[in-house]
Amino acid sequence: MIAVAVLMLLSFMGGMLTQRALTKTPQQDANLSYIDGIPVYTDFIPEGSRARPGQTREIKYLVIHETDNFSAGADAAAHNSFIHQNADADSGIVSWHYTVDDHEIYHHLPDTETAYHAGDMMTENGGNMNGIGIEMCVNEGGNYEQTLINTEKLCAQLCLSYNLNPDKALKKHQDFMEKVCPARLINEGRWDEFCAAVKQKYTELKAADAEN
Ligand SMILES: [Zn+2]
Repeated sequence: MIAVAVLMLLSFMGGMLTQRALTKTPQQDANLSYIDGIPVYTDFIPEGSRARPGQTREIKYLVIHETDNFSAGADAAAHNSFIHQNADADSGIVSWHYTVDDHEIYHHLPDTETAYHAGDMMTENGGNMNGIGIEMCVNEGGNYEQTLINTEKLCAQLCLSYNLNPDKALKKHQDFMEKVCPARLINEGRWDEFCAAVKQKYTELKAADAEN
């Protein structure tokens, strides 16, 4: 009788171990507040709003965009206001996860949720379904070079947080639909330079992370 009980217990524990080995830990939002001195303000659009479908997915890509809004003052804070004001619009719903300018970053949606930024519906392995949407500001008076550096740092940190290989994870919006976005980066032929800079920063972060 005791032997049977022990056997049952062992088999139960064995089952638990197998299950643990097979189940991946669910991804959690990276919950960033600063990246190398750049403030990251979290201000999520409300749950249940049309721009926040709320579907969780596996994060595979960082999808890089530019706002194409050249007005003075069209910075990350302004885009945060925009995304909140339009979260329940009747049409033209858009949403993405981060907006980066030359001095700060706004975080509009949990990284673990889908959004509408890549124009590819909810295609499996698509930008909306599996990407973190990152908008770079191109506003007049903004320092685009600094915005690039800030975005590189964000991307490097996200690669570390979600264990993504920068070589595979970094995507242009253009990779998911026929749109020249991020326009300036593409038109100036600097996409590869951007990816190399992210990779460099990611390697440094990973080395520092391993030391701690
Ligand atoms: Zn785009």
